[in-house]
Amino acid sequence: AKKSGRNTFRAYRKGMDELIEKRRALEADIERGLERGEFELYLQPRVSARDGAIIGYEALLRWNHPERGMVQPGDFIPVAEVSGKIIGLGEWVLREACRLAVDLPPHVHLSVNVSPVQFRHPDFLAGIEAILQETAVAPQKLELEITESVLIDDDQRARLILGHLKTLGVKIALDDFGTGYSSLSYLSRYPFDVIKIDRSFVSALGEQETANAIVRTIIELGNGLGMRVVAEGVETVEQASYLSAAGCDELQGYLLGRPQPVVEIAREISETVVI
Ligand code: C2E
Ligand code: CA
Ligand code: CA
Ligand code: CA
Repeated sequence: AKKSGRNTFRAYRKGMDELIEKRRALEADIERGLERGEFELYLQPRVSARDGAIIGYEALLRWNHPERGMVQPGDFIPVAEVSGKIIGLGEWVLREACRLAVDLPPHVHLSVNVSPVQFRHPDFLAGIEAILQETAVAPQKLELEITESVLIDDDQRARLILGHLKTLGVKIALDDFGTGYSSLSYLSRYPFDVIKIDRSFVSALGEQETANAIVRTIIELGNGLGMRVVAEGVETVEQASYLSAAGCDELQGYLLGRPQPVVEIAREISETVVI
């Protein structure tokens, strides 16, 4: 038994070592990927629940890795966060998004996901101001999607930063709403423009009775506080009609459009714009 215990431990060590090695390789890869232009933003439309008009796009990061092929954010963002590489990566995303936003029609905005690690960095605000200046984008075209976790860390600082961003004209969305802890108090303390109902509630619509009640309540709450309410992960016509009828402002999900490379979006826009 002793021997097998030792073997189990060795196997465990070996597994750990491999994991650490993999993570190191990935970290180095991120750095190199940035230098070689392997990252790309895909855009997913957000549409009006009333008439289907495109209100904006969410920028979703993709990695065209030379050996691994297309890597999804879930597979490298956590590593980038732990290693601090998310700072450089996040800056790239913001700059790229602002450049793209310049060419979007005037009333169409671009949403960018901000990692809590990025938000916590002392130069976060200065970095955004620099990129706004450098790209000369109208700040109203930029929306930052943050999650509750950034609010938990340092309430005072978070409020200061969000307030300042608001003064600049940048919009703020609270992402994955309903999955955190004390969402209700956050809503009254921070100047959100938008709340995004988490996909888990949307996909449970019609299947779990509680989901319908939760979704209706979030919509009423958001509307009552003067925020726009966006539902994410809308995949079926039934979900879309339920959400519209309940007063949800905007819909996002595969039903309305999948995340697509910028060239595809540009083609769609040029086809729908009537001169
Ligand atoms: P998120 O911000 O909640 O983004 C929504 C995710 O749901 C995206 O996955 C999107 O492709 C997916 N999605 C959209 N509509 C549907 C639908 O109808 N059904 C289903 N099943 N999924 C849908 P993605 O692109 O893999 O991104 C995953 C997460 O990675 C994002 O979750 C976000 O937290 C993070 N992420 C993506 N891009 C960035 C980025 O540039 N910076 C940072 N910090 N995080 C990012
Ligand atoms: Ca998001
Ligand atoms: Ca989300
Ligand atoms: Ca999410």
